[in-house]
Amino acid sequence: MRFDIISIFPEMFESPFAASIIRRAVDSGAVAIHTHNLRDWTEDRHHITDDYPYGGGPGMVMKVEPLARAVEALREKNPGAPVALLTPQGTPFNQTMARALAANPGLILVCGRYEGVDERVRAHYCDLEISIGDYVLTGGELPAMVVVDALTRLVPGVLGTPESADDESHSTGLLEYPHYTRPAEFKGLRVPDILLSGDHAKIEDWRRAQAIIRTARRRPDLISRAGLTDAERLMAEKIIRGEEP
Ligand code: SAM
Repeated sequence: MRFDIISIFPEMFESPFAASIIRRAVDSGAVAIHTHNLRDWTEDRHHITDDYPYGGGPGMVMKVEPLARAVEALREKNPGAPVALLTPQGTPFNQTMARALAANPGLILVCGRYEGVDERVRAHYCDLEISIGDYVLTGGELPAMVVVDALTRLVPGVLGTPESADDESHSTGLLEYPHYTRPAEFKGLRVPDILLSGDHAKIEDWRRAQAIIRTARRRPDLISRAGLTDAERLMAEKIIRGEEP
Protein backbone atom coordinates (compact mmCIF):
# COMPACT_ATOMS: atom_id res chain seq x y z
CA MET A 1 0.00 0.00 0.00
CA ARG A 2 1.32 3.41 -0.91
CA PHE A 3 0.74 6.44 1.34
CA ASP A 4 1.34 10.00 0.16
CA ILE A 5 1.13 12.64 2.86
CA ILE A 6 0.91 16.36 2.08
CA SER A 7 2.05 18.62 4.92
CA ILE A 8 3.92 21.81 5.61
CA PHE A 9 5.83 19.92 8.33
CA PRO A 10 6.92 16.66 6.63
CA GLU A 11 9.80 16.32 9.09
CA MET A 12 7.25 15.48 11.81
CA PHE A 13 6.79 12.04 10.25
CA GLU A 14 10.41 10.90 10.48
CA SER A 15 10.53 9.46 13.97
CA PRO A 16 7.08 7.81 14.26
CA PHE A 17 7.64 5.78 11.12
CA ALA A 18 11.25 4.90 11.93
CA ALA A 19 10.58 2.25 14.57
CA SER A 20 8.94 -1.09 15.20
CA ILE A 21 6.23 -2.57 12.99
CA ILE A 22 5.84 0.42 10.67
CA ARG A 23 9.56 0.54 10.04
CA ARG A 24 9.62 -3.19 9.25
CA ALA A 25 6.58 -2.79 6.98
CA VAL A 26 8.42 -0.09 5.04
CA ASP A 27 11.68 -2.05 4.94
CA SER A 28 9.89 -5.17 3.66
CA GLY A 29 8.11 -3.18 0.95
CA ALA A 30 4.63 -4.01 2.30
CA VAL A 31 3.95 -0.28 2.50
CA ALA A 32 5.60 2.80 1.04
CA ILE A 33 5.22 6.08 2.91
CA HIS A 34 6.01 9.25 0.98
CA THR A 35 5.84 12.57 2.79
CA HIS A 36 5.68 15.73 0.71
CA ASN A 37 6.31 19.35 1.56
CA LEU A 38 3.35 21.38 0.35
CA ARG A 39 5.72 24.30 -0.27
CA ASP A 40 7.14 22.34 -3.22
CA TRP A 41 3.86 23.08 -5.04
CA THR A 42 3.94 26.84 -4.45
CA GLU A 43 4.97 29.11 -7.33
CA ASP A 44 5.81 32.31 -5.46
CA ARG A 45 9.22 33.34 -4.20
CA HIS A 46 8.30 32.93 -0.51
CA HIS A 47 6.56 29.54 -0.90
CA ILE A 48 3.41 30.80 0.76
CA THR A 49 0.78 28.18 1.58
CA ASP A 50 -1.73 30.23 3.60
CA ASP A 51 -3.58 33.52 3.43
CA TYR A 52 -6.07 35.65 5.36
CA PRO A 53 -9.68 34.44 5.43
CA TYR A 54 -12.19 36.19 3.19
CA GLY A 55 -14.76 37.83 5.40
CA GLY A 56 -12.27 38.42 8.18
CA GLY A 57 -11.86 36.54 11.43
CA PRO A 58 -8.95 34.98 13.27
CA GLY A 59 -6.21 32.78 11.86
CA MET A 60 -5.06 31.86 8.41
CA VAL A 61 -6.46 29.51 5.76
CA MET A 62 -4.44 27.10 3.63
CA LYS A 63 -4.52 28.22 0.01
CA VAL A 64 -6.25 26.20 -2.69
CA GLU A 65 -3.62 26.41 -5.48
CA PRO A 66 -0.69 24.53 -3.90
CA LEU A 67 -2.99 21.91 -2.39
CA ALA A 68 -4.78 21.41 -5.72
CA ARG A 69 -1.46 21.02 -7.55
CA ALA A 70 -0.18 18.60 -4.92
CA VAL A 71 -3.29 16.42 -5.06
CA GLU A 72 -3.30 16.37 -8.87
CA ALA A 73 0.37 15.39 -9.01
CA LEU A 74 0.03 12.69 -6.37
CA ARG A 75 -3.11 11.17 -7.89
CA GLU A 76 -0.91 10.36 -10.91
CA LYS A 77 1.79 8.78 -8.74
CA ASN A 78 -0.68 6.87 -6.60
CA PRO A 79 -3.44 5.76 -9.01
CA GLY A 80 -6.61 4.45 -7.40
CA ALA A 81 -5.77 6.04 -4.05
CA PRO A 82 -8.58 8.06 -2.46
CA VAL A 83 -7.67 11.51 -1.20
CA ALA A 84 -8.51 12.03 2.47
CA LEU A 85 -8.60 15.37 4.21
CA LEU A 86 -7.84 15.25 7.92
CA THR A 87 -10.32 17.50 9.71
CA PRO A 88 -12.15 17.52 13.03
CA GLN A 89 -15.31 17.89 10.94
CA GLY A 90 -14.77 14.57 9.14
CA THR A 91 -16.23 11.09 9.57
CA PRO A 92 -15.02 9.63 12.88
CA PHE A 93 -12.16 7.21 12.19
CA ASN A 94 -12.69 3.66 13.44
CA GLN A 95 -11.59 0.10 12.70
CA THR A 96 -14.33 -0.39 10.10
CA MET A 97 -13.09 2.64 8.18
CA ALA A 98 -9.51 1.45 8.59
CA ARG A 99 -10.40 -1.92 7.04
CA ALA A 100 -12.25 -0.31 4.15
CA LEU A 101 -9.38 2.09 3.42
CA ALA A 102 -6.76 -0.66 3.72
CA ALA A 103 -8.44 -2.43 0.79
CA ASN A 104 -7.24 0.37 -1.52
CA PRO A 105 -3.88 0.27 -3.27
CA GLY A 106 -2.98 3.56 -1.62
CA LEU A 107 -4.12 6.63 0.25
CA ILE A 108 -3.32 10.32 -0.16
CA LEU A 109 -3.59 12.30 3.08
CA VAL A 110 -3.97 16.08 3.24
CA CYS A 111 -2.87 17.64 6.54
CA GLY A 112 -4.43 20.98 7.42
CA ARG A 113 -2.98 23.67 9.68
CA TYR A 114 -4.17 27.01 11.08
CA GLU A 115 -7.94 27.44 10.62
CA GLY A 116 -7.99 24.63 8.06
CA VAL A 117 -8.01 24.46 4.27
CA ASP A 118 -9.85 26.53 1.68
CA GLU A 119 -13.29 24.98 1.26
CA ARG A 120 -12.66 24.34 -2.47
CA VAL A 121 -9.96 21.82 -1.53
CA ARG A 122 -12.42 19.89 0.60
CA ALA A 123 -15.23 20.05 -1.94
CA HIS A 124 -13.35 19.41 -5.20
CA TYR A 125 -10.05 17.69 -4.43
CA CYS A 126 -10.84 15.27 -1.61
CA ASP A 127 -12.82 12.02 -1.67
CA LEU A 128 -13.37 11.72 2.06
CA GLU A 129 -12.81 13.58 5.31
CA ILE A 130 -11.45 11.87 8.41
CA SER A 131 -11.61 13.01 12.03
CA ILE A 132 -9.65 11.08 14.65
CA GLY A 133 -11.87 12.33 17.47
CA ASP A 134 -14.00 15.12 18.84
CA TYR A 135 -11.17 17.45 19.79
CA VAL A 136 -9.10 19.97 17.86
CA LEU A 137 -5.39 19.48 17.24
CA THR A 138 -3.01 22.06 15.82
CA GLY A 139 -2.52 20.17 12.57
CA GLY A 140 -3.40 17.10 10.53
CA GLU A 141 0.01 15.48 10.94
CA LEU A 142 -0.75 13.51 14.11
CA PRO A 143 -4.11 12.36 12.67
CA ALA A 144 -2.32 11.27 9.46
CA MET A 145 0.12 9.22 11.56
CA VAL A 146 -2.78 7.57 13.36
CA VAL A 147 -4.43 6.64 10.05
CA VAL A 148 -1.20 5.33 8.48
CA ASP A 149 -0.43 3.27 11.58
CA ALA A 150 -3.92 1.74 11.79
CA LEU A 151 -3.97 0.87 8.07
CA THR A 152 -0.41 -0.44 7.90
CA ARG A 153 -1.04 -3.13 10.49
CA LEU A 154 -3.95 -4.36 8.34
CA VAL A 155 -1.82 -4.78 5.22
CA PRO A 156 -1.27 -8.52 4.66
CA GLY A 157 2.09 -9.70 5.94
CA VAL A 158 2.73 -6.76 8.24
CA LEU A 159 1.73 -8.39 11.53
CA GLY A 160 3.57 -11.54 12.59
CA THR A 161 0.44 -13.69 12.73
CA PRO A 162 -2.47 -12.79 10.47
CA GLU A 163 -4.94 -13.55 13.32
CA SER A 164 -3.44 -10.79 15.48
CA ALA A 165 -5.56 -8.14 13.81
CA ASP A 166 -8.72 -10.27 13.68
CA ASP A 167 -8.88 -10.85 17.40
CA GLU A 168 -8.34 -7.33 18.59
CA SER A 169 -10.62 -4.72 20.11
CA HIS A 170 -13.00 -3.28 17.50
CA SER A 171 -12.31 -6.06 14.97
CA THR A 172 -14.73 -8.60 16.40
CA GLY A 173 -17.13 -5.86 17.48
CA LEU A 174 -16.05 -6.45 21.09
CA LEU A 175 -13.22 -5.07 23.18
CA GLU A 176 -10.48 -7.63 23.58
CA TYR A 177 -10.21 -9.93 26.63
CA PRO A 178 -7.55 -9.19 29.31
CA HIS A 179 -3.96 -10.36 28.79
CA TYR A 180 -1.47 -11.74 31.29
CA THR A 181 2.13 -12.90 31.05
CA ARG A 182 4.66 -14.31 33.50
CA PRO A 183 4.94 -14.36 36.50
CA ALA A 184 1.83 -16.32 37.44
CA GLU A 185 1.76 -14.42 40.74
CA PHE A 186 2.95 -10.89 41.45
CA LYS A 187 2.65 -9.46 44.98
CA GLY A 188 -0.30 -11.73 45.65
CA LEU A 189 -2.01 -10.88 42.32
CA ARG A 190 -2.64 -14.19 40.59
CA VAL A 191 -3.24 -14.86 36.92
CA PRO A 192 -6.70 -16.50 36.52
CA ASP A 193 -6.28 -20.27 36.98
CA ILE A 194 -8.07 -21.03 33.72
CA LEU A 195 -5.21 -19.46 31.73
CA LEU A 196 -2.73 -21.85 33.37
CA SER A 197 -4.93 -24.92 32.83
CA GLY A 198 -3.76 -25.74 29.31
CA ASP A 199 -7.42 -26.42 28.36
CA HIS A 200 -7.64 -24.39 25.16
CA ALA A 201 -11.38 -24.80 24.64
CA LYS A 202 -12.08 -23.52 28.16
CA ILE A 203 -9.61 -20.68 27.67
CA GLU A 204 -11.39 -19.64 24.47
CA ASP A 205 -14.76 -19.67 26.29
CA TRP A 206 -13.31 -17.61 29.16
CA ARG A 207 -11.81 -15.08 26.78
CA ARG A 208 -15.05 -14.70 24.87
CA ALA A 209 -16.98 -14.16 28.13
CA GLN A 210 -14.39 -11.65 29.35
CA ALA A 211 -14.59 -9.72 26.08
CA ILE A 212 -18.38 -9.50 26.41
CA ILE A 213 -18.21 -8.46 30.09
CA ARG A 214 -15.62 -5.82 29.31
CA THR A 215 -17.51 -4.41 26.36
CA ALA A 216 -20.82 -4.36 28.26
CA ARG A 217 -19.19 -2.48 31.15
CA ARG A 218 -17.03 -0.05 29.19
CA ARG A 219 -18.72 0.34 25.82
CA PRO A 220 -22.35 -0.76 26.05
CA ASP A 221 -22.96 1.16 22.83
CA LEU A 222 -21.01 -1.55 20.94
CA ILE A 223 -23.03 -4.50 22.21
CA SER A 224 -25.98 -4.32 19.83
CA ARG A 225 -23.64 -4.59 16.79
CA ALA A 226 -21.32 -7.25 18.24
CA GLY A 227 -23.05 -10.28 16.70
CA LEU A 228 -23.71 -12.02 20.04
CA THR A 229 -25.67 -15.25 20.47
CA ASP A 230 -28.96 -14.99 22.39
CA ALA A 231 -27.33 -16.27 25.58
CA GLU A 232 -24.42 -13.84 25.23
CA ARG A 233 -26.78 -10.96 24.61
CA LEU A 234 -28.77 -11.79 27.75
CA MET A 235 -25.54 -11.84 29.77
CA ALA A 236 -24.46 -8.49 28.30
CA GLU A 237 -27.86 -6.94 29.03
CA LYS A 238 -27.63 -8.06 32.66
CA ILE A 239 -24.24 -6.41 33.01
CA ILE A 240 -25.49 -3.22 31.41
CA ARG A 241 -28.39 -3.18 33.89
CA GLY A 242 -25.82 -3.43 36.69
CA GLU A 243 -26.54 -7.08 37.52
CA GLU A 244 -23.07 -8.60 37.68
CA PRO A 245 -22.64 -12.04 36.05
N1 SAM B 1 -10.88 25.58 12.38
C1 SAM B 1 -11.02 24.16 12.23
C2 SAM B 1 -12.39 23.73 12.71
O1 SAM B 1 -12.91 24.36 13.60
O2 SAM B 1 -12.92 22.73 12.20
C3 SAM B 1 -9.92 23.42 13.00
C4 SAM B 1 -8.58 23.60 12.39
S1 SAM B 1 -7.32 22.73 13.26
C5 SAM B 1 -6.72 23.94 14.37
C6 SAM B 1 -6.02 22.63 12.07
C7 SAM B 1 -5.93 21.32 11.33
O3 SAM B 1 -5.67 20.26 12.22
C8 SAM B 1 -7.16 20.89 10.57
O4 SAM B 1 -7.25 21.50 9.32
C9 SAM B 1 -6.97 19.39 10.47
O5 SAM B 1 -6.16 19.06 9.36
C10 SAM B 1 -6.21 19.06 11.73
N2 SAM B 1 -7.05 18.49 12.80
C11 SAM B 1 -7.31 19.04 14.00
N3 SAM B 1 -8.07 18.27 14.76
C12 SAM B 1 -8.32 17.15 14.03
C13 SAM B 1 -9.05 15.95 14.29
N4 SAM B 1 -9.70 15.76 15.43
N5 SAM B 1 -9.07 15.02 13.33
C14 SAM B 1 -8.43 15.20 12.15
N6 SAM B 1 -7.73 16.32 11.85
C15 SAM B 1 -7.66 17.29 12.79
